[in-house]
Amino acid sequence: MFLKQIEMKGFKSFADSICIELEQGINAVVGPNGSGKSNIADAIRWVLGEQSVRTLRGSKMEDVIFSGSNSRRAVNRAEVTLLFHNEDGKLPIEYSEVSVTRRLYRSGESEYLLNKKPCRRKDIIELFLDTGLSKQAFSIIGQGQVEEVLTSKPEERRMMFDEASGVLKYKERKREAEKK
Ligand code: ATP
Ligand code: MG
Repeated sequence: MFLKQIEMKGFKSFADSICIELEQGINAVVGPNGSGKSNIADAIRWVLGEQSVRTLRGSKMEDVIFSGSNSRRAVNRAEVTLLFHNEDGKLPIEYSEVSVTRRLYRSGESEYLLNKKPCRRKDIIELFLDTGLSKQAFSIIGQGQVEEVLTSKPEERRMMFDEASGVLKYKERKREAEKK
């Protein structure tokens, strides 16, 4: 399974429709500061169900919608589609290609699509769970996150190990159970 294409329209700095083709293996995106490299990573997180505006480097969810520039007016909708190559069936769904779409309107209305059919956020989360690409996995390491690991306190670092080893889930469940 690998990500073969990212289509965006109205997402952050990508006002126009843009389609990025990726190859299996390593792909590199290069460009000057502020040209939108990190916005591409944000787009991937966003489609996979990210709800934390801080992780998406904004202050409200609407910040993912293109907000205009000197030469262009703001748009009303952000849309991103990820296309996964799934010949090896790593994604537990009977398709050799899987597309996942997320849309957000300025009105606050939002939609998820799986292979172009409306679905719930939960369906997307469940599809990617245990594939190494889930929201909680370390498949996307943000700028500054490596530094954070090196400078973090031992307790915080412990949490990362707990998460990576799958222990955190059980700790969370234990805490939930103790609350009851
Ligand atoms: P660096 O090399 O410094 O890390 P980068 O290529 O990763 O830069 P990004 O952080 O991806 O750059 O892009 C930042 C740019 O995206 C800024 O110019 C910012 O104004 C623009 N941007 C972010 N959100 C929006 C939005 N909603 N509408 C329009 N532009 C946006
Ligand atoms: Mg960046």
